[in-house]
Amino acid sequence: MSDSSQLADTDERLYEAISAEERRQEDNLEMIASENHVSKAVLEAQGSVLTNKYAEGYPGARYYGGCEHVDEAENLAIERAKELFGGDHVNVQPHSGTQANMGVYFAMLDPGDKILSLNLNHGGHLSHGHHVNFSGQLYEVEQYGVDPETGYVDYDELEQKALDFEPDVIVSGSSAYPREFEYERISSIAADVDAYHLADIAHVTGLIAADVHANPVGVADFVTGSTHKTIRAGRGGMIITGEEYADDIDSAIFPGSQGGPLMHNIAGKAAGFGEALQPEFREYAEQIAANAKTLADAFSERGLSLVSGGTDKHLVLIDLRDSHPDLTGEEAENALEAVGITVNKNTVPGESRSPFVTSGIRVGTPALTTRGFTESAMEEVANLIVDVLDEPDDGDVAQRVEARVDELTDEFPIYD
Ligand SMILES: *Cc1c(COP(=O)(O)O)cnc(C)c1O
Repeated sequence: MSDSSQLADTDERLYEAISAEERRQEDNLEMIASENHVSKAVLEAQGSVLTNKYAEGYPGARYYGGCEHVDEAENLAIERAKELFGGDHVNVQPHSGTQANMGVYFAMLDPGDKILSLNLNHGGHLSHGHHVNFSGQLYEVEQYGVDPETGYVDYDELEQKALDFEPDVIVSGSSAYPREFEYERISSIAADVDAYHLADIAHVTGLIAADVHANPVGVADFVTGSTHKTIRAGRGGMIITGEEYADDIDSAIFPGSQGGPLMHNIAGKAAGFGEALQPEFREYAEQIAANAKTLADAFSERGLSLVSGGTDKHLVLIDLRDSHPDLTGEEAENALEAVGITVNKNTVPGESRSPFVTSGIRVGTPALTTRGFTESAMEEVANLIVDVLDEPDDGDVAQRVEARVDELTDEFPIYD
């Protein structure tokens, strides 16, 4: 934080915590696939006086006076989202991706209705019907999975389950699935069983905005996403849909499930979407995918098994069971964290360990790509990771890798 910080004078403990987090981000290689670093412009929008403003309602139809300027901010976010993704109607008020999914369920389903979604162990998300989440408690849930041989979604199984279970909504989208979904095919299965298709693009918003990944807008009935992952527009969510569902979706968000919108975050979305419309963003998104392919190739060359054998997007999912049968995902995460490389343990298809232990790690490239990493640096990072996985208890290896991580983080600063 800047030396002129107010917090430094008024609240030393909080100032220290925030400063320490800033240093942690600068000094570590962030490879959690859902994380990224927003620009200073997005930080400025999110840290603005818009946090003071109540604006229940939507632009032009608010329950509070004095909304002319926040209307402009929200309209910018909506217009830019339409330009990036297409779609007739965009709601940028969901506080997060989970709230966006909640908005669609509340708009279209009744309690007890049925959701068919991807198994959490195969890359699905809590908000797709996990029993610890409201979505699993309010609705009846059936899950499809990936083919254990190929690691790709088993569409024949999906279709059979749709026919047998007769869901009201089929959810595509994932947190840890390294391949693209076949959106047309899922929409056609959904149409056959009279279900809606909700495409949750949380992780891949940035890739879709830059045409690096297939776009489900216009194919699925509803598209939801987070705005803080590959798109770098600050923490939040959004919903894209057709005009016929616009009113239902808007009412399900406000007043259905949220109160006043977080106007500072909506300004962050406007700023981040504006950046994503610039030509450099396309280069950024292409580099994310190129970096992920480099990681996948380097890991494979060193003998690691990857779920589905590689990646189409921004992440790879390492299944440690073949190459490192005694190393758990949890131990791998801890060994890497100790040398300054942040990844997360992750369940893998056919998982036998608990979600707290796991047999896999998920490794993503969006944040390092924001720092300026290209293929050669990424290949080196892949090799550093495998050095640690091969010898997780060797202090000399840890010391050497950590020293190199220090040099790389110095060479590629985030906020210089
Ligand atoms: C990250 C994610 C979300 C939303 O998460 P929030 O933390 O609520 O923004 C939703 N769906 C998928 C598939 C995700 O990966």
